[in-house]
Amino acid sequence: MSTIESSTPNQTQSSDDAMIRVNELGKRYGKFKALQGITFEVPRGQVLGFLGPNGAGKTTTMKILTCFLAPSAGSAFVGGYSIAEQSLQVRRLLGYLPEDTPIYPDMTVLEYLEYVGDIRGVESGLRRRRIGDLAEICGLMKVLSRPVGHLSKGLRQRAGLAQALLHDPPILVLDEPTSGLDPNQIVEIRQLIRHIGEEKTVILSTHILPEVQATCGRVIIINEGRLVADGTPDELASQQHDNSYHVVFDASGFTASGQSDEAIQEQLERVPGVQSVASTSPNEGEFSFTIKGESTLDLRKEIFCCARDNEWILLELQRRQLSLEDVFRRLTR
Ligand code: ATP
Repeated sequence: MSTIESSTPNQTQSSDDAMIRVNELGKRYGKFKALQGITFEVPRGQVLGFLGPNGAGKTTTMKILTCFLAPSAGSAFVGGYSIAEQSLQVRRLLGYLPEDTPIYPDMTVLEYLEYVGDIRGVESGLRRRRIGDLAEICGLMKVLSRPVGHLSKGLRQRAGLAQALLHDPPILVLDEPTSGLDPNQIVEIRQLIRHIGEEKTVILSTHILPEVQATCGRVIIINEGRLVADGTPDELASQQHDNSYHVVFDASGFTASGQSDEAIQEQLERVPGVQSVASTSPNEGEFSFTIKGESTLDLRKEIFCCARDNEWILLELQRRQLSLEDVFRRLTR
């Protein structure tokens, strides 16, 4: 962890465990409101996925947190330090991988990392050791003497991650770290982020949903500069479920007694709380339906009792769980 000199954190403004605390953050570009009062906290050791469609305000938030941009309203604290008043201390705590990795194409990877280490004030002996360790962790060993400008996008991204980690910051801010990478590179960078997240607090901005599911313990979704959801991927899915059920019955009993799927549908529609029942394309020997409930009340018991009372053979009963993608689309469309 970096050494913090002189000024002390503004403890009154930050809860004990919050490494990042953002309060009613706003940003205007001219008349356009890119951020409209965002509030959230990130505790120590969490990997937070910062999710939103194009133009939602992700990069703007990252740039404010890393002191590249000043907010128009609100406040933010990193490690207890104010981004407005203690930006030097904030920068020391942060490693930042911007959307477009800043590179000096003519420098070799080693020269680039030496240069960043120098700027970051990492003492030369320690700097050598850190570069060696990070080259190993980030898979850069074989390309240390190659000019950065000759690297593939994936390797450049790795070099960007290594520069963000060089001064061993406790907090990492990664803006779309896998954008433009091929599927193999994406898997590798995600593994690397997961590994880093075991020790550090990470904010990861992306609009790639599998990325969040693969790497993040918590998700924040922003849309048009406002926070629209906050929770684990599973929590978001359960908060947003659409209360529908998939049921399948064994058709053999019905055909023997001459009952049709319309008759079953009518019975199911009479179950208290059921809003609609639609027959879905059945497999051979099955009747299947999608049932929609009126409220968020769980109707599985009622549906089961209806089947039992009618002596229908229930093969499947499943409350539909929304995927993170469904939740995202619902909240940001
Ligand atoms: P993406 O996923 O496309 O990178 P984002 O969520 O990171 O999007 P931002 O880059 O933060 O979004 O932009 C938020 C909004 O602010 C967008 O509408 C963008 O056009 C606008 N914006 C960003 N920077 C500026 C600027 N310097 N001047 C004017 N408008 C800007």
